[in-house]
Amino acid sequence: MKAKKSLGQNFLIDNIIINKIVDEIGANKDDLIIEIGPGRGALTNKLKKYDCNIIAYEIDKDLINVLSSVEDNKTKIIFKDILNTNIKDDISRINYNRLFIVGNLPYYITTPIIEHIINQNLNFEKLIIMVQKEVADRFMAKVHSKEYGYFTVLLNYFFDISLVCNVKNTSFNPAPKVDSSVILLKPKSELISLNIEEYKRFLKQCFSQKRKKLKNNLIGYNWDKIKNILEKNNLSENVRAEEISGEIFIEIFLGK
Ligand code: SAM
Repeated sequence: MKAKKSLGQNFLIDNIIINKIVDEIGANKDDLIIEIGPGRGALTNKLKKYDCNIIAYEIDKDLINVLSSVEDNKTKIIFKDILNTNIKDDISRINYNRLFIVGNLPYYITTPIIEHIINQNLNFEKLIIMVQKEVADRFMAKVHSKEYGYFTVLLNYFFDISLVCNVKNTSFNPAPKVDSSVILLKPKSELISLNIEEYKRFLKQCFSQKRKKLKNNLIGYNWDKIKNILEKNNLSENVRAEEISGEIFIEIFLGK
């Protein structure tokens, strides 16, 4: 079967990388693993070493034949678009201890998939995903760097993010044009309570014109209050969004 470019089908063929991803999970028999996009089952087959329940969501029904040989009494393949799936409902009848999510994602929907997972309010231990290297750099970008932006700040509010490994394009068949990275997102144990939709709107406005001063992006906000918070944090009132850490964004947003 030919790989479908339109579904981001770049299948992993490098056992070293496959094992690195699988080992990073560290599940037990009583846990549950959700896999996004099993493809031909390269990861799924290796996940079985944990002897726990596995649910894998695959959108491409042409993979039914290949994936039916991967299914067993603990491994279930669901042919569904992950973006239209209520994962919580699907797993509600399964008894499990901890939940892990893993996937070699189609790159064009990396951000929507992560947002979908965040919106589901799932209580999970680790999210381990393959993303385009450039995207991984953006997710893990430090303040002051050119990669630092709206989604960096938002994602780092929810997760501690770290690099598992970089992956050369030759580790896939067909080989994509870009290099990739596997990253680990660990949900923060405690989140500062805030209205997430309002916080997203606020962050988008802060970064709306990256090279502009924050002051000029935040027209309509109480600038005197914000100026005080910036001063308290030794930041000039001419600061740009890319110079502000996540903690200070929250302080400004909450107006404290
Ligand atoms: N995990 C396999 C591997 O590593 O070899 C396949 C990875 S391939 C990059 C991505 C897989 O996700 C493809 O099998 C594709 O059909 C599937 N996929 C694409 N969009 C999807 C979606 N919205 N929901 C579920 N699966 C999707």
